[in-house]
Amino acid sequence: MPPAISATATGPLSITFRAILLIILLALALRTYEWVAHDYRMPWTPLSLAAPIGPFTTRKIDALADDTPFCHALLEEAAIGYSPLPPVSAGPQCGYDNGVTLTRDRPQAIAYSPAAKTSCPMAVSLVLWENQIVNAAAALHLGTTVEQIITYGSYSCRRIGGGQTGNYSEHATANAIDIAAFRLADGRTVSVAGHWNANDERSRFLKEVRDGACSLFATTLSPDYNEAHEDHLHLDQAPRGGSQYCR
Ligand SMILES: [Zn+2]
Repeated sequence: MPPAISATATGPLSITFRAILLIILLALALRTYEWVAHDYRMPWTPLSLAAPIGPFTTRKIDALADDTPFCHALLEEAAIGYSPLPPVSAGPQCGYDNGVTLTRDRPQAIAYSPAAKTSCPMAVSLVLWENQIVNAAAALHLGTTVEQIITYGSYSCRRIGGGQTGNYSEHATANAIDIAAFRLADGRTVSVAGHWNANDERSRFLKEVRDGACSLFATTLSPDYNEAHEDHLHLDQAPRGGSQYCR
């Protein structure tokens, strides 16, 4: 039988120890709950244009096709200026009913030439791409900012490859855009056609915005894919449940 003094010394110590352990465990549980419930990398947290791009961002953008009010709310929150477009109906394969144009009437917004008219999920993707990839790549490689993105357009009722047969392109539902060049604040223009193989800061910038697009868009095609893409980056949000194709 242990001496009585041991019981009186370990009793209070044990209670203090248990209380500290309980507090630590509660704090850990709270932190884990916060992380699991709210972290942008989780599949169930709502998409935010202020959060970094995570492993489920493309899947969340995909889901915006069925939630136009939330899609509009994201563009509203981004405060870059947008307006909904009237629906376009052009047969079973072409048209859209969730189009927007990024009006870009706020000072911090990059302008598109011609004005980008895309599906709402594509517009959300473009805002994310600019804010989190294009601007950072321009600062890193070119030491300036992008003022304007020159495109070959978005909506076009056509099949993949432009032929008479085969599946319709994502362009047929305004769910794609072709990026040709970037006009910079210092007056330079960096184009896919002119600088993809320049082997300098301009080609490094172009490849970084392509690589970044691959983490965000369902499909990213560049001059590395084929000759049809030697003068532009094709970006689309084909509804594939979050899977990505990048070339
Ligand atoms: Zn395209």
